[in-house]
Amino acid sequence: MSAPPEAYVDVVARIARAAQAAGRDPAEITLVAVSKQKPWEAIEPVLDAGQTVFGENRVQEAMARWGERSRNPALAGLTLHLIGPLQSNKAKEAVAFFDVIETVDREKLARALAEEIRKQGRTPRLYIQVNTGEEPQKAGVSPAEADAFIALCRDALGLSIEGLMCIPPADEPPGPHFALLREIARRNGLSRLSMGMSGDFETAIRFGATSVRVGSAVFGARG
Ligand SMILES: *Cc1c(COP(=O)(O)O)cnc(C)c1O
Repeated sequence: MSAPPEAYVDVVARIARAAQAAGRDPAEITLVAVSKQKPWEAIEPVLDAGQTVFGENRVQEAMARWGERSRNPALAGLTLHLIGPLQSNKAKEAVAFFDVIETVDREKLARALAEEIRKQGRTPRLYIQVNTGEEPQKAGVSPAEADAFIALCRDALGLSIEGLMCIPPADEPPGPHFALLREIARRNGLSRLSMGMSGDFETAIRFGATSVRVGSAVFGARG
């Protein structure tokens, strides 16, 4: 086994330092290593270094890359997160394959997930995506609709919601968006926050992130 990749070691250390600076236990923060679009040669050293939690933004790409895990004991202990938009007609595959789905953002999808969870008896952990910047091109429920959507998922559809996820606008300081997500979670009794990417995960940790989704800082820039 070769030495763990420097970039990965550095991100893990930065997460620990950011947690300590915020008076938090680094163990409360999960690094989701975002492996989308990366070749296996880039992923394997990170796996070998002990990373077990990975994020993918496309169902088909994830299944092609990680589909081995039911057969390969080396991959059995992984936790796979879907962090990209999910079409309702792929709910079946997503429920069967992912351990965490972070992009629940509309009623049609929530209904499709509830039905698949019932049918398959498999329950991925679910996050609701909030479009904190209300950007038209971005997925997620608007902050104003978030409480009602959370209630719909829980009460009408019987879904267990673990937390909230957001992707702040690229051209704004992320802090206010992280604060908004934390406030929506607090008033809905949710304690888990998926927020922070390569450019802003330390800020996200300061604002209470319980998981950070880091791609390029771990694996290098995408093509
Ligand atoms: C690609 C992606 C990330 C990782 O982005 P980096 O800037 O490479 O760290 C995180 N979250 C989501 C939803 C993504 O699509």
